Amino acid sequence: MTKMVKTRFAPSPTGMLHIGGARTALFNYLFAKANGGEYLIRIEDTDQERSTEENKEIIKQGLDWLGLGPTDGQWVLQTDSLERHKQAVEKLIQEGKAYECYTSKEELEEMREAQKAKGETIRYDGRHRNLSDAEKQAFKAEGRTAVIRLKVAEEGTTKWDDAVQGTIEVPNYTLDDFVIMRADGYPTYNFVVALDDHDMGITHVIRGDDHINNTPKQMFVYQAMGYDLPTFAHVPMIHGKNGKMSKRDGATNVLEYKEAGYLSEALNNYLMRLGWSLGDEEVIDMARAIEHFDIHNVNKSASVFDQVKLDWFNAQYIRKLSATELLPQLKPFYEKAGLTLNSTIEGYLLNGGIEAVKNKAKRLGDIVTATAFFFENAPFNFGEKETSILETEGYKNNLALFANALKDVEGPVTHDTVSDIVGKLCADTGLKFKDFGMPLRVALTGTTQAPGVGDIVEIFGKEECLKRLNSIT
Ligand code: GLU
Repeated sequence: MTKMVKTRFAPSPTGMLHIGGARTALFNYLFAKANGGEYLIRIEDTDQERSTEENKEIIKQGLDWLGLGPTDGQWVLQTDSLERHKQAVEKLIQEGKAYECYTSKEELEEMREAQKAKGETIRYDGRHRNLSDAEKQAFKAEGRTAVIRLKVAEEGTTKWDDAVQGTIEVPNYTLDDFVIMRADGYPTYNFVVALDDHDMGITHVIRGDDHINNTPKQMFVYQAMGYDLPTFAHVPMIHGKNGKMSKRDGATNVLEYKEAGYLSEALNNYLMRLGWSLGDEEVIDMARAIEHFDIHNVNKSASVFDQVKLDWFNAQYIRKLSATELLPQLKPFYEKAGLTLNSTIEGYLLNGGIEAVKNKAKRLGDIVTATAFFFENAPFNFGEKETSILETEGYKNNLALFANALKDVEGPVTHDTVSDIVGKLCADTGLKFKDFGMPLRVALTGTTQAPGVGDIVEIFGKEECLKRLNSIT
């Protein structure tokens, strides 16, 4: 029986969840889901000094927002397994696979200098591999404390078939007996990551290619513990336009994208396209990605973060949503803009207001700006541009003609009502559509930055339109 696919995302709360981390999480999620498996989270909080509760919370909120929380609902903390990690160290010492090393900082420094001078690979030279009990006692008597090192093969190579990078082979002489437990009794990253991945039943380790150098070390841990190896997949980095990711390129908290008015669906779509493609499709929702995603098809070369492309995706997803779906997401943005919703305004927004502007929006805030006029009531405080339009020769009279015609309309007023009335007025007066449309838009909304008058009249309805027009004419 083949094992159920299990992936994991293992963020360190020494920082926030940035764009690169979010994409790693996404690929882990998609691969697990595509294979009917589980996607787990392990918060790697073993660096006690640099991990913070705040970062844990920010990472969790970021993943939740993206819909990338663990499929089993468990937010596992690595430090919860500390006892298990220490026991594993003990076991390896007893089996002669790991050993106490008392080499001091100064001695290590000297050793490295000597290697450098001879042009050799800088590595721990294994000098305490076979200390006798008496030698250990003597070091202890000097007041030295030991770190624990894992015995690593010196001959041969370590090799794995990376699901993204292809075969990677590393000569073992470039590795050394690395530290698996520090002098303070805390096991190290390369040791615990292998133990935890095994304990959690992880079948595919998908992570950034900055971890490639750690993989051979972790493979030695698997081997020493007698565990089966998972498949490794090292995903290339995301770069900024000028090389390194800067804050502007998303090297920041993903929640800032939420605050800036991006939809999580759009960010996910954008992120999956950084390194993975499905023919020439651009807009690929999560369901479709789950159907087709394969980590083996992820590109080997680095991708470049492109804000303009992200905005394009966001615009596509905004237009896919209905007003009813958009309104709850818009509420915090209205609030931030100091615009207070009430049932009348909600009615305008849901009955055409959002629909009339959403296709031009790149971010949620664009809808807020474009619909802000619904929150204003006549009489308006007109700006310079608006005042000059209303004072154009004859425009007030045109508004009165329109108001008169509107008054006589029976039943609901629609787009068509407006074109019928204006069409007739144009024919009667010899004027152009704009001679009615421009002042109407200003009179009804207080601004020139509003959707077409047909939409506006239909949304406000006859009574409200007449009220607004009467305040001018
Ligand atoms: N905690 C590591 C990091 O945040 C990831 C470890 C891994 O994925 O193996 O870089």
